[in-house]
Amino acid sequence: MIKADRIVRTTCPYCGVGCQIDLHIVDDHIVEVTAPFDQPPNFGRLCVKGRFGTDFVHHPSRLRMPLIRRKLGTPRQQATIDGFRTASWDEALDLVASHFAEIKRKHGADAIATTCSAKATNEDNYLFQKYVRAVLGTNNCDHCARLCHAGSVAGLQLALGSAAMSNSVAEMLDLDTFLITGSNTAETHPVISLFLKKAVQQGGAKLIVADPRATEMTKFATIWLRHRAGTDVALFQSMANVIVTEKLYDLDFVNKRTEGFSAYAKAIQRYTPEWAEKITGVRAVDIRRAARMYAKASVAAIYWGMGISQSTHGTQNTLSLANLALLCGHLGKAGGGVNPLRGQNNVQGASDMGGLPNVFPGYARVDDPEAQAHYSAAWGSALLNPTPGLTVTEMVDGACSGAIQAFYIMGENPLMSEPHLAHARHRFENLPFLVHQDIFFNETSAYADVILPALSFAEKDGTFTNTDRQVQRVRKALPAPGQARPDWQIIADLGRRTEKALGMTRSAGWSYNHPAEIWAEIASLTPNFAGISYQRIDREGGIPWPCPTPEHPGTPYLFAESFPRGKGKFHALEYELAPEEPDAEYPFILSTGRVLYHWHGGTLTRRSMLDKVYPQATVEIHPDDAAKLGIQEGDMVRVRSRRGAIEVKALVTGRSPRGTVFVPFHFAEAAANELTIDAIDPIAKIPGYKICGVQVEALGA
Ligand code: SF4
Repeated sequence: MIKADRIVRTTCPYCGVGCQIDLHIVDDHIVEVTAPFDQPPNFGRLCVKGRFGTDFVHHPSRLRMPLIRRKLGTPRQQATIDGFRTASWDEALDLVASHFAEIKRKHGADAIATTCSAKATNEDNYLFQKYVRAVLGTNNCDHCARLCHAGSVAGLQLALGSAAMSNSVAEMLDLDTFLITGSNTAETHPVISLFLKKAVQQGGAKLIVADPRATEMTKFATIWLRHRAGTDVALFQSMANVIVTEKLYDLDFVNKRTEGFSAYAKAIQRYTPEWAEKITGVRAVDIRRAARMYAKASVAAIYWGMGISQSTHGTQNTLSLANLALLCGHLGKAGGGVNPLRGQNNVQGASDMGGLPNVFPGYARVDDPEAQAHYSAAWGSALLNPTPGLTVTEMVDGACSGAIQAFYIMGENPLMSEPHLAHARHRFENLPFLVHQDIFFNETSAYADVILPALSFAEKDGTFTNTDRQVQRVRKALPAPGQARPDWQIIADLGRRTEKALGMTRSAGWSYNHPAEIWAEIASLTPNFAGISYQRIDREGGIPWPCPTPEHPGTPYLFAESFPRGKGKFHALEYELAPEEPDAEYPFILSTGRVLYHWHGGTLTRRSMLDKVYPQATVEIHPDDAAKLGIQEGDMVRVRSRRGAIEVKALVTGRSPRGTVFVPFHFAEAAANELTIDAIDPIAKIPGYKICGVQVEALGA
C-alpha cells in the first residue's frame, strides 16, 4: 500500500449525488480515492467513477496555455489543436474583452450568448453570471440544466413554485413506498441506488418502477409498469384517475394546501386505466394496483431522471407526477416529496447561482423591479437588463440567424450535447466569435476563436451543491497544470478588462483573493444561503439550503408549511404523441442515456482508466429484432435517423423492449446526438432526446 503525502477531503466531480471523497496524494498525483464512512450523503460508498475515474486530471492533453485560432474569421472550419497558437493571458483576455465590447457597441448586449457550467463551482458560476449581467449587460446566460432537467424545473415551478429535489438522500433509508420513473438510477446515480435498494431489501419498502427499459431497479420493484416510451402523461393521469375515482386522495391536504382540484378531477375522468392500457401497453389492473399502492402509503416519494424531463412533453410529464403528489399529500414530510435526481455534480448550484436566463441568484426574477434594485446596488450597475435572456437552445439557433454574434462557453460541450449535431455544427461555423473555457480541447473547442485553460475540481477551492441541496466544499489538492487558472480568476480578470474596453465608470467589483470571499458575497445577497459559510461547512459538513441564519440547521425537506407559490396547483393535461414516432422507413424508437462507466459527453471519462472498461459505443437491441435483422452480439451495426448515421457495436439484450434501441451518448466518434431530433418542449425549451425514429442495418462482425 502506498502511503499518501497528504489526504484532501473534497466532493466527487461527476454526478449530483455529491459523494464526499478523500484524495490520497503522492508527489502531486492522485494514487487512491476513498470515502469517509461518517459523512453524508454517501457514508463511505462510492461508485466506479468516484473511485477510479478522477485520473483524468493527470491526462497529458490538459490545456495549459491560452490558445488563439491561427486564422480568425468566419465561416470557420472545425480545427485540431494545431490550428491554434499559444498566447499569453494578457493577449487572450484583451482579445476577448475587446471583441465583446465591440459586439456590444455594434449589435447590442443581447447579441452575446453565454453558458456557465454545471461542472464548475458555485463561486465560478456566480461570478460568471455577474459578469454577463453587470458588464456584458444581457441575461443570455444558461447552462446544461436546460438539456437535462428543464422539463422538471418548469413543471415543478408551475405546480409548487420550487424546482429543487424536495427531500434528502438521507431519508431514502427509511422509505415506506416510492416510485421511480425515467431513471436508470443504478447507473446514473449509483450511490443513491444503493440506499434505495437497501430500503427495499432491509426496510421492506414498496417500489413502483415505471420505465420502458429493464434496469437494475426493476429487479427490486414490487410493481414494474413497463409503459411504451413517451406515454408517461397517459400512465400517471390514469393513476390519478384511479385515486380520484376510488376517493383515495388526501382530502384534508387537497382542501388546505392546493388549488384547482375540482377542474382537475373533472378533466381526468376520461383517463381511465382501460383507456391508458391501449396507449401505454400497461394492463389496467396493474395501473390500479400501482395507484392504490402510492395513494394508500402513509408517505411516498417520487424520484425521476431524464427519462421524464428530456422530452418535448417534459413539463407535462413533470406536472403529471406533481399532480399525484398533491392528490395524496405526499409533500412536506420526511420520506416523501417530488425528487428530480439532478445529473451533473453542480447543476443544482449553477441554477441556484443565477445561471439561467430569467433569474438572478436565489431565483429572483430578472424582470422583478425589487430584485433589479437589489442586484444593481450590489454590482455597481446603474441598471440591469430586465428582459429575460435566451435559453441555450435558442442561443444556438441565434447563431444561425445572426442574432447572436458571440458565444462565451464555460465548461460545457454543446457540440456533443446539442441534439441534431450536424445542424449545431453548421450554426457554430457561422458564429462570428466563440470563446471556450475548459480543461480539455474538445468538440466545441474545435470551433473556438479563443480557448481559455481552466482548472479541474482537484486544483481549486469552492463549493458544489448536490442534488438534495447540500452545499459542500471542493478543496484544492493539486497544483495547476501549466498556466491554467481557476474559472473565477479568469472571469474576474476578464471582468476588469471588459469594463475598461467598454469605458465603464463603475465596476461590478472583481477584487477577490479566494473563493471564500465570493461565497461571502453570495451569502450576503441571497437569503437561502445567508447562514452558510466555509467555516461552517468545514466544521459541520454539507448544509442543505434554505439556511437563512448561522444558527439555522439547514432544510432537509421542503414544503413543511407551504409552497413557494402559496398553494400547490393541479394542472389538467393532454396526452400528446412525440414529434417523431417510428414509421415504415425508420421503424425503431431511439432512446439515449448513460452507462455506469462514462459521463455525459465523455470529455472526462474518455480520458480516464474507465475508458478501458467501456471503450466503444454500443446499441442495445432486443433479441427478436436482432434475429430479424441478422445481427449477432458484438456485430457492428449502422443506426440511421433522418439527421445522420453512426456505426456502433450491437448488444443483443432484452433490456430495451422490442422496437426500441438504446444508444449511450458518451462517444464522440459515434455520437448519439447525430441522430436525435431538435424539437423542444414549448415551455421548458428542452429537446426531446428520448424519442425519435431510426433504422438499424447489420454491418457484420
Ligand atoms: Fe461520484 Fe456520483 Fe459515483 Fe458518488 S455516485 S461517486 S458522486 S459519480
